[in-house]
Amino acid sequence: MTNSVVQVEKTLNPKMKPAFDQLSFGTVFTDHMFTMEYTEEQGWHDPKIVPYEPILLDPAAMVFHYGQTVFEGLKAYVTEDEEVLLFRPEENMKRLNRSNDRLCIPAFDEELALSGLRKLIQVDKDWIPNIEGTSLYIRPFIFATQPYLGVAPSKTYRFMIILSPVGAYYKEGINPVKIAVESEFVRAVTGGTGSAKTAGNYAGAMKAQEVAEAKGYSQVLWLDGKEHRYIEEVGAMNVFFKLNGEVVTPELNGSILEGITRKSVIELLQHWDIPITERKISMEELYEAYQSGKLEEAFGTGTAAVISPIGELYWNDKKITINNGEIGELAQRVYDTMTGIQTGRTEDPFGWRM
Ligand code: PMP
Repeated sequence: MTNSVVQVEKTLNPKMKPAFDQLSFGTVFTDHMFTMEYTEEQGWHDPKIVPYEPILLDPAAMVFHYGQTVFEGLKAYVTEDEEVLLFRPEENMKRLNRSNDRLCIPAFDEELALSGLRKLIQVDKDWIPNIEGTSLYIRPFIFATQPYLGVAPSKTYRFMIILSPVGAYYKEGINPVKIAVESEFVRAVTGGTGSAKTAGNYAGAMKAQEVAEAKGYSQVLWLDGKEHRYIEEVGAMNVFFKLNGEVVTPELNGSILEGITRKSVIELLQHWDIPITERKISMEELYEAYQSGKLEEAFGTGTAAVISPIGELYWNDKKITINNGEIGELAQRVYDTMTGIQTGRTEDPFGWRM
């Protein structure tokens, strides 16, 4: 690693900040961004914070052709005392390096990236919205920049972090969503890239999402790629079910993304002595549980929504209504605790806040 001190060049033309009570998701970006370069000779080098601006890339840059790119998503909050809070950011950096490994992108120094992230947030601190439910969304990403059309790992890369103030996910209270179980398209297969956060997984998932939306469902429940039987994820979230007092979530199998919210919810349930098991769950099992009145709750977990309760599942022409389409007690308790820890409203017995 050469010149590992993060240099800062501040903008001379700060932008107008948006009204924090009218934010949506991912449309507005702050005044600065973090960048760092990779070459074979120098490794990752020249980490710096510069004014936010468009970037110049060769049309032959390999990211455009073979999709060698990875990304992350996390949030920062500001407390009433002006303290900036991040939720387990070291987990995102670890996952980014795991994604790198799967996509043949060279690993970066996680400590350095975290210090770059902290500096960037400090420089753009006034962009962190302070209204209930709002946050500063953080998007680290890495992409292949070598101008070359051969199918091989790129020899050069760029690592960037951009920031976007975002509005509350739930503006009118937490609404359980309707989900279509996807029996035709698959998101990922064992041995594929499903456990990496890489662009192709998301591009490949859009068709199913589009079809489900046209039928009035907000997202799809993904099944395994081989037998189309076992439950994997819901939209871009991990999924949990409460069956007869026991909480279950699909076990990590190489095609499921290892969510940081998922990991935290598992640790939280263990802390509460609520039985939680990571195992295979088939649609048949879930349907049987529903029919015998044992399917008590279902919810997705992810950075964007934290908890997204599922009110209805549509599978093989059958409608599965969960908890009368209302948010369950457990989902509400998990949501309140997680958001309390993230925003500094409640204690953090786990040391997740940084
Ligand atoms: N699955 C997929 C496919 C995702 O994109 C995400 C969002 N990163 C998640 C699950 C949830 O992960 P996390 O809790 O880390 O946001």
